[in-house]
Amino acid sequence: MKPTSPAAQAFRVLCPHCGSGKSKLKAKPAQAQVASVTQEVHCTGCNKQWIDTYQLTGMESA
Ligand SMILES: [Zn+2]
Repeated sequence: MKPTSPAAQAFRVLCPHCGSGKSKLKAKPAQAQVASVTQEVHCTGCNKQWIDTYQLTGMESA
């Protein structure tokens, strides 16, 4: 059985500030760097903004 990809698990579905669900979160298009991805997220529930960072921690052959 193949493990779920880390990127899928990392996707944030709750605001870290007020706990609002995904429906209140507005994410800007992700910016891909060499070994990481950053994404600006804005919560319409509490009007806060933050940047999610995803690191490439491993690869596997297709
Ligand atoms: Zn919030």
